[in-house]
Amino acid sequence: MERLTPRVGIGQIAPYRSSRVPPDGRPFIDLSLSHNALGPSTKAIAAYRKAALSLHRYPDYEHTLLRAAIGRRYDIATDHITCSNGSDEMIQLVAEAYAGPGDEVLFHQYGYRGFHKAARMTGATPVVAAERDLAVDIEALADLASERTKIVFLANPNNPTGSYVPAEQVQRLRADLPAHTLLVLDSAYADYVRRDNYDPGFGLVEEHDNVLMVRTFSKLHGLAGLRVGWAYGPPSIIETLDRIRDPYNVGLPAQAAAAAALGDPEHEAATLEHNDAWIAWLSHELRAIGVRVYPSVCNFLLIRVPPDPTMSVAAVCTHLRDRGILVKTLGEYGLADCLRITVGTEEENHALVDALREVLE
Ligand code: PMP
Repeated sequence: MERLTPRVGIGQIAPYRSSRVPPDGRPFIDLSLSHNALGPSTKAIAAYRKAALSLHRYPDYEHTLLRAAIGRRYDIATDHITCSNGSDEMIQLVAEAYAGPGDEVLFHQYGYRGFHKAARMTGATPVVAAERDLAVDIEALADLASERTKIVFLANPNNPTGSYVPAEQVQRLRADLPAHTLLVLDSAYADYVRRDNYDPGFGLVEEHDNVLMVRTFSKLHGLAGLRVGWAYGPPSIIETLDRIRDPYNVGLPAQAAAAAALGDPEHEAATLEHNDAWIAWLSHELRAIGVRVYPSVCNFLLIRVPPDPTMSVAAVCTHLRDRGILVKTLGEYGLADCLRITVGTEEENHALVDALREVLE
């Protein structure tokens, strides 16, 4: 008898392993996932609570109020927007809609892991363009685009490297891609970027019919636990994604809280101020104890632990865990000697630096 086996490609997806193994029963500091250290906006919490009274109802399958709030906030048309259960779901929906067996899905070497999974889920072949110094090499990406390339995923800025691609290079990449290839700009961390030559991609979406921008409420708006993402693209692509998504993919309180979060500019400003200050502080302090810190435009830092035969990355992590601190290991990205550290509260950031100082200095 033939054995039961999953679909082609599924076996190549590594199960998601979080670095979040909390120390037994003790309170711990979780800097392993890129959340917002300030938490959610109070307006989002109030909207969530109010929506809880309607939990017996199904959510609005058209995400009407949420799309209206996004449209107002970014001055974009609501028929160019759809929403998802976190932007992870959007990445998967795009892959399912546009790629399949025999097709190629192209992305960059240290690109967000969700791209690899999405490609494999569809049975398409993931094709990976080498990066240079942990930054996307646009030429390498464009060179690998072929007749079979259905999607190019570009995380800009990228997780876990924290680097970004300047607007002019993204434009060049788009111009070099074949018309049958969809360029997906994953702009999850766009809000954190303070660089004049950065562009999250609204203009590219407006000018071309093969560009989609994907965003999330998990970072700036501090709603990672609610799972809300959205995409901005040409109506033909949005309509395609709407066809295949679960009609009730974004829960009722999630839609309400996300819409309310967009009406809380004070929380957004406080988040950015906190992030700017602590990214600078952490970078400085960690460099002072001999850690290589890569420049980051996000809410996390990629660090390389100095080569030392007596102190491996695993030993550093064990020490941090003993101090009740969790950070993200990056073996799955081929960055085994690196760690990703998310900006925490003032107290958490100090605890992290103190613990690293103990073990590395
Ligand atoms: N894209 C990038 C680049 C990310 O880093 C993440 C999550 N860390 C996501 C997408 C998915 O985020 P979410 O599903 O929480 O919206």
